Amino acid sequence: MESDSVECVSVTEGLDEEEVTMPRHRLHKPLGAAAPLPPKGISPSTSVHELLECPVCTNAMYPPIHQCRNGHTLCSTCKLRVHNRCPTCRQELGDIRCLALEKVAESLELPCKYCTLGCPEIFPYYSKLKHEAQCNFRPYNCPYAGSECSVVGDIPFLVAHLRDDHRVDMHTGCTFNHRYVKSNPREVENATWMLTVFYCFGHYFCLHFEAFQLGMAPVYMAFLRFMGDENEARKFNYSLEVGANGRKLIWEGTPRSIRDSHRKVRDSHDGLIIQRNMALFFSGGDRKELKLRVTGRIWKEQPNPDPGVCIPNLCTRIPS
Ligand SMILES: [Zn+2]
Ligand SMILES: [Zn+2]
Ligand SMILES: [Zn+2]
Ligand SMILES: [Zn+2]
Repeated sequence: MESDSVECVSVTEGLDEEEVTMPRHRLHKPLGAAAPLPPKGISPSTSVHELLECPVCTNAMYPPIHQCRNGHTLCSTCKLRVHNRCPTCRQELGDIRCLALEKVAESLELPCKYCTLGCPEIFPYYSKLKHEAQCNFRPYNCPYAGSECSVVGDIPFLVAHLRDDHRVDMHTGCTFNHRYVKSNPREVENATWMLTVFYCFGHYFCLHFEAFQLGMAPVYMAFLRFMGDENEARKFNYSLEVGANGRKLIWEGTPRSIRDSHRKVRDSHDGLIIQRNMALFFSGGDRKELKLRVTGRIWKEQPNPDPGVCIPNLCTRIPS
């Protein structure tokens, strides 16, 4: 019976042994991004790509790579789906790994999948996966909080998207003074939120204000997110103040990166939280209307501030 000789053979035809056992080489284009492929057997890198292409889903295969007893290979995702039947020859699949092909896959160095967004890094497969999860060039999710928006992109793109598609208010400057008015403060739903974008120090910041239910109690929360990465966000500080009638709440913190979802920031309570009773007290009047004035400023942690950089005590202009 054939099954005694388990060979590692790809279903791709036209490969000779030399190509399968090729030494390490570098690929300069991401999988699938190449121009029309040259005929098989001409470019070694093309052949290895084809060899590593899962015949079922056509994705690139990485360890564990499986094969049937006739040598037909398939990826681990597809193996779970095929109910122990080889999709190529319909024989029972068993649990045979294709170690030689796994070694080839591991030895390939591949560009970061965000290379078209500017990332120049090239890695062996496993380091590449690790890198991609943290790559600074990976696109950001839309920071808008009110709906599940699936738009992704770089910061300039998202700023334009917020302005044009979500109609978000845009402001320039490092201080702000916002009034949030709601006519029926008893209705506190998760859907009550506001977003304002500030531009200062050459960066964009998202000021979120929202009402939500914390346990049984409705609360209001304001916080700032930085449109950029965590390491940049840490260079900034911000403060928020809300008050009236001789009482005041002050929050001081570091903006969170928009890499952290709006919900994650909210759930960690990393911002100015106003209990409803206090919010109604600050609103004055008959408690039928919520009127909160939130003032704040953003500044940069710098030992020697440049001229023109916002120095908190000098540029706080809060109109009354
Ligand atoms: Zn597959
Ligand atoms: Zn088979
Ligand atoms: Zn990268
Ligand atoms: Zn959006």
